[in-house]
Amino acid sequence: MLTGMHIACIGGDARQLEIIRKLTELDAKLVLVGFEQLDHAFTGAVKEEFEDLDPSQLDAIILPVPGTSLEGQVETIFSNKKVQLTEKWLSQTPSHCVIYSGISNSYLDHITSQANRKLVQLFERDDVAIYNSIPTVEGTIMMAIQHTDFTIHGSNVVVLGLGRVGMSVARVFHHLGSKVKVGARRSEHIARITEMGLYPFYLHDLEKEVHDVDIVINTIPHLVVTASVIAKMPSHTLIIDLASKPGGTDFRYAEKRGIKALLAPGLPGIVAPKTAGKILATVIAKLLYEEYSQRKENP
Ligand code: NAP
Repeated sequence: MLTGMHIACIGGDARQLEIIRKLTELDAKLVLVGFEQLDHAFTGAVKEEFEDLDPSQLDAIILPVPGTSLEGQVETIFSNKKVQLTEKWLSQTPSHCVIYSGISNSYLDHITSQANRKLVQLFERDDVAIYNSIPTVEGTIMMAIQHTDFTIHGSNVVVLGLGRVGMSVARVFHHLGSKVKVGARRSEHIARITEMGLYPFYLHDLEKEVHDVDIVINTIPHLVVTASVIAKMPSHTLIIDLASKPGGTDFRYAEKRGIKALLAPGLPGIVAPKTAGKILATVIAKLLYEEYSQRKENP
């Protein structure tokens, strides 16, 4: 339980609702900012304006998945009011106050470090990234079905990268009956791809591996699907780029060649916001409990 812990949940989309539900269940003292247009009332949580929120009382702050914009604005889907997070405001929180967000950027990094507050980026954690790969793969399947006129079964699929998303994508497309090749740069990844019963290749050979590909799924956040790689693909190839913006594809050249290339960010929040929210809620609850227990032991 998190009885008595003061937590502010500031902004966010449907994923935040699962976090709010979980934290109210755990008896935290929850303040919701940026939720006034949400009809649902959570027992044990109060809605407040950002200006009325007292930072000096907060043990933790939960931001939406993107954290803030580069200008410090917090996205508030359930409100018309703008929330601007500043270093000055953060400095008024108690020194033990922890800020949780999905990812960060130079602005959020800067204000948290200047205010000397701990920032936890949930998406950097392996557990969150691996759980999140599940709705990401389901979203990728949805896109492959929507944007092709052939079955996934029997198609030639090239997956780029064997990280947390790449491994899940490769495995699921294999189980759906695709002929899956996976490109990586490390020999241990080549070994793992072989062990998975898939066809491995080194990324420097990518140009040679795409002459008969039907679907390319990129998970590498660097330009790997270059113009010279795209030039070797059949014209019906679909490229689904899952890597964070701006992706790893030369979209300009793909368009010029008439090859459909789609940047597909944030699939978990689009195809399964409830599950994506539950993943975050479980991990946040665990981390908050650890902080809470530590402070009880060493007040
Ligand atoms: P990850 O575990 O870090 O895996 C990244 C993969 O890219 C690794 O195989 C890594 O290989 C490879 N890589 C990185 N830089 C490279 C480079 N310069 N050249 C060659 N290979 C390189 O990351 P992840 O969790 O799988 O996430 C992958 C991407 O998907 C990220 O950009 C993430 O933000 C994004 N993502 C998107 C969605 C969505 O909905 N679209 C959902 C979740 C994640 P090494 O190990 O050799 O470095």
